[in-house]
Amino acid sequence: MLVEVAANGLCHTDVTYYEATIPEKMRIYPLILGHEAAGKVVAMGTGAEGLAEGDSVLLPPVYGCGDCDYCQAGLDNLCRKSVFLGASRHGTYAQYVALPAKFAFKMKPSVDLERACISADSVSTVYYSLKERVGVQKGESVAVFGCGGLGLAALNVARELGAAKLYAVDVREESLEAAKKLGAEPVNSKGKEKIFKELKSASGDSIRIALDCVGHGTTITEAFNTVCKGGEVSVIGFTLDEVNLRAGNFMGLQKRIGGSWACPTRLYPEVVELLEGGGIDFDVLVSKFYDLEQVEQAFHDLEAGKIVGRAVVRIPH
Ligand SMILES: [Zn+2]
Ligand SMILES: [Zn+2]
Repeated sequence: MLVEVAANGLCHTDVTYYEATIPEKMRIYPLILGHEAAGKVVAMGTGAEGLAEGDSVLLPPVYGCGDCDYCQAGLDNLCRKSVFLGASRHGTYAQYVALPAKFAFKMKPSVDLERACISADSVSTVYYSLKERVGVQKGESVAVFGCGGLGLAALNVARELGAAKLYAVDVREESLEAAKKLGAEPVNSKGKEKIFKELKSASGDSIRIALDCVGHGTTITEAFNTVCKGGEVSVIGFTLDEVNLRAGNFMGLQKRIGGSWACPTRLYPEVVELLEGGGIDFDVLVSKFYDLEQVEQAFHDLEAGKIVGRAVVRIPH
C-alpha cells in the first residue's frame, strides 16, 4: 500500500539517529528518518481489505513479520525480524511511504492528521505501557517523570484509562504548565534530590505506578523509590545508563520494574478509537509546527529544550 504522508511527530529517537549517537551496528546510511506519521491512502496494493483510496490512516512505527513466536503471541513490537520505520528502513519524513496494508489503521475523515500523527508513536507507546505493561486501574495514582512529548501523552492516556490522581515531574515550568492542563499535579524537581520523598508525602504513599519518560538512570531510581509497596515502574525513555537499585526492595516491598517498547499493532484500533472519541488533548500535546525543509532546525530546537510536548513536521504536497 502507498500512503501520502501528511505529517510526522518529531520524536527524540529521530535526533538520536540524526546525531548518530546510536550504536554503530544499528546505523544504516543513507536513511530517511521519521516514524510517527499519519496520511492518506493513495494506492491500495494487496491485502487492503476495509481500506479505500483517500482513507486517513495512522502508521505504527514498529511492525513485525507475522510469523515468529512473538508475532504469534500478539507482541509484534518484539518481533524477531521487526521493522522500524526511519531506523531499520526508510521512514516517513517523505511525501510517500509504502508499507503492508495491514499496518495502516483507518481513521475517520474528520481526524486532523497534523495533530493525530503523534498517536502513531507517543500516544500508542504510553497506551501500551499503561494499559498492558503496568495495567493502570480506575482510581489509581500515577507519577510521570519527564513531561516531554511522551510524558504529556502518558498523563493524558492515564487520565483516560481512569487514573484519579496524576503527578507530573519535570524541571521545566512550561512543561509542567502543560501537564497541569491535563489535570496533573506539577512537581518541579529542579535542583532537588530525592524527589520521591515529596511525592510520597503529597500522595500519602499511594502512587502504585510510575513511568520514566526521561531515559536517565537517576529518574528511573527516583521512580522506583516513588512507588508504594507492590508498585510498578515502566521505563519508556531510552538510556544507556546503568541503574542502582536496592535489590531488597524487589523482595521486601514487592516492587517491579520493567520496560515498554513501542506498541503491538493489535492495539492500534483502540488507540484510534480513543483519539476519535476526543480523548486526546492534541492542543496541549502539540505545541509547534515545522515544514519538512525546517526539519534540521526542529531537531536542534528539540535538543535545546525549546519544544513543549511534541512538534509536528508537515509534509508538503
Ligand atoms: Zn519515537
Ligand atoms: Zn515476527
